[in-house]
Amino acid sequence: MQVTLRKITKTPLDFEIKSNEIAFKGYLEYHAGKLILLKADINGSVDTQCSTCGEDFDLKVKEKIEFFISDGLYDGDNIDIDVVESFNSAVDLDELLISEIELIKSDYHSCESCK
Ligand SMILES: [Zn+2]
Repeated sequence: MQVTLRKITKTPLDFEIKSNEIAFKGYLEYHAGKLILLKADINGSVDTQCSTCGEDFDLKVKEKIEFFISDGLYDGDNIDIDVVESFNSAVDLDELLISEIELIKSDYHSCESCK
């Protein structure tokens, strides 16, 4: 799902994406300047490998994400929230979800029997 950044207004734009066992649900809202706020929950489970024994297992995921998307290069002040720059004036929510899942998988995880 591609969203054109300039179409996002102060009225939150809700979205919900499902990918396999994962639900990605949240909204996009215009903040100020070039910045658009993205707030979402990631819920579900992902297949990953135990960092201890190497067995595949289902990892339960419950994450809240929040960051700004900048329409173009961000040259403003440092802010508390991460800023992700978009250079095609759009945000691809499916791609974003895939990269968040990869990020979660890259963390250290142990299966039930290794905990
Ligand atoms: Zn294990």
